[in-house]
Amino acid sequence: MIAENLNRIKTEIAEVCARVGRTPESVKLIAVSKTKPASAVIEAFEAGHRVFGENYVQELLTKFADETLQTLPIEWHFVGHLQSNKVRYVAEKIAMIHGVDKLSLAEEISKRAKKYNRTLPILLEVNISAEASKHGLSPDALFSEAEKIFALPHIELKGLMTIASPDREKVKQEFKHMRLLFEKLKTLAPKPEQITELSMGMSGDFDIAIAEGATLLRIGTAIFGERR
Ligand SMILES: *Cc1c(COP(=O)(O)O)cnc(C)c1O
Repeated sequence: MIAENLNRIKTEIAEVCARVGRTPESVKLIAVSKTKPASAVIEAFEAGHRVFGENYVQELLTKFADETLQTLPIEWHFVGHLQSNKVRYVAEKIAMIHGVDKLSLAEEISKRAKKYNRTLPILLEVNISAEASKHGLSPDALFSEAEKIFALPHIELKGLMTIASPDREKVKQEFKHMRLLFEKLKTLAPKPEQITELSMGMSGDFDIAIAEGATLLRIGTAIFGERR
């Protein structure tokens, strides 16, 4: 079931890429396994998938500690909202943190990454739909925050992340706006070539995200089924 879903999603991604003139290699699929057991991740791994996302620290730690999972060469992304006091639990092993929305969190990531003698890739989360219930920087606050974060050691700001509004009618505009912010971020970066990632697109809107330039898709339900 998971293998079939993965195949179907990868085919759909390739089809959308072809339609909008992009190569499938320019889009990376992150399989979001939150609330799903280790066995579901193993099933996807056996089907050839290597990149997974989680958005709760406790669950990620459970998966890190799983007998089988800990032996597999998986690239784990933290896609959710991360509290500063939890950074230390993920700083060693996580490949990228998507939901950074304030300087103090970036400073904590910088500090913890230093302990592991590494540079940790991060994305800034933008609240593009301006919903009060969502995390993320407003487009207005984004660039002044980014400038301070560019100056921190041991982290590499690689781009932007967002969750669009549930209304598909609005999504296209929101993703277009994200792309503009992403292009502007490149012009402000000390090294423009480091701004390579635009993380947007979930099960219900990844087709629109690809058309608007997403490089990282975060897809859960369409691969693993509904969450309880
Ligand atoms: C759960 C989640 C996803 C995946 O959403 P689906 O609709 O299940 O594809 C993507 N991004 C974040 C931040 C999430 O929390």
